[in-house]
Amino acid sequence: MTVHGLYDSFDPENPDLEIMTLCLDCAKHPSLKRFVEAHAMEGPICGICQEVGYAYRACDPKRKNDLTNLIKALIRFYYNEYEYNGHWGGNDEPEDLLAKPNPILEDQSAPGRTRSPDRSCDFLYDLFSAQPYPPVDEGISVYAGHDEDGHRNIQFALKDRISPILATLRARLATENYFDVEPALRDLVNEFADRITHTMPAGARYFRARIGIAARYADHSIGEWRSGVVRQPFSGAELSAPPPQLAAAGRLNRAGVAFLYLASDADTAAAEVRPHPGHFLSIGEFQSLVELKIATFDADIMQFAGNEHELDLFHFIYSTDRIMALPVVPGEASRYSITQLVAECLRQKGFDGVSFRSSVGHGQNLCVFRPELFEQVACSLAVREVKSLKYSLEASPTILKPGANHYPLKN
Ligand SMILES: [Zn+2]
Repeated sequence: MTVHGLYDSFDPENPDLEIMTLCLDCAKHPSLKRFVEAHAMEGPICGICQEVGYAYRACDPKRKNDLTNLIKALIRFYYNEYEYNGHWGGNDEPEDLLAKPNPILEDQSAPGRTRSPDRSCDFLYDLFSAQPYPPVDEGISVYAGHDEDGHRNIQFALKDRISPILATLRARLATENYFDVEPALRDLVNEFADRITHTMPAGARYFRARIGIAARYADHSIGEWRSGVVRQPFSGAELSAPPPQLAAAGRLNRAGVAFLYLASDADTAAAEVRPHPGHFLSIGEFQSLVELKIATFDADIMQFAGNEHELDLFHFIYSTDRIMALPVVPGEASRYSITQLVAECLRQKGFDGVSFRSSVGHGQNLCVFRPELFEQVACSLAVREVKSLKYSLEASPTILKPGANHYPLKN
């Protein structure tokens, strides 16, 4: 049964795959949902749920090429080619991956729908095979194909690999002065700066933590029958960025450069200073004084799914975000040079700071290039005692003894 003639031409036994797209409910990845929402209209049938019982919104068929590229970009991000290419030992085709639990599309019917996995596989096969090897500047391929000598190449999941562009720049910094590497990085930043620009309003509040306290006191006012210990948090300059002459090299600042590192919530700020149980922390809020131009490295893949070069840019941003979040290990300060140089290029481009994910907390970090753009919120200061730390362990593909099919990787 169809709704007010909207889906009358639909024949479930012989569906016209050409005109099918994707509905909002079947898109699972947040970027894919945003894309469908941005180009949604009533009328097109969703190739995944193939719902015709009531009216719903699905992606405009005119944007099907962009939709396909975004789904392919997400496959490249999450999956290795050996998982979906029989030539590399994969048991599944790309469409099979998306019919099982996956981070890109819903694999189960929404309540009240009768989704057929076979039909959605037909739709996805049609989607992916329309143009398996588009020209590199016109689309994205999930297959690496062959090189000029006929050797079969392979794609690895972008999320697990460092961006080749980033790896090259980092390697150059080991043998060249930063000012010889800077122009290439500046050109790169110019290519995506607009797409990672976030305008932060004045009055935005962020947190900063420091291990330790200013002083402790015996307090006899707590009760007549006992006294307690009260602690006074660090404040003012003790909790702010150190002055330039005292600033040690950090993830984004060179030695002698004072940047203000903040976090989006108190827990992330606390986790970022890596305390131990039993530590007392001084925590305070900071407030932006003017509107700020911030580079956000938590980029949206939807804006970089047009072709292979765009996806390379996204991979660079994603990898940079990850290494910005790594802790500074004493004695390995040179390892952070590439993130320091990225910050310098962003500063030259007119950004006031960078936001990047935290590897130890759930929130975001914010590094501000001029500490005076934020002021401490006086009444926000507090002392917190660290009671426990949580570690999260995840299963990781493991090998006890490498075999003939294992090749040592550099990164
Ligand atoms: Zn659907």
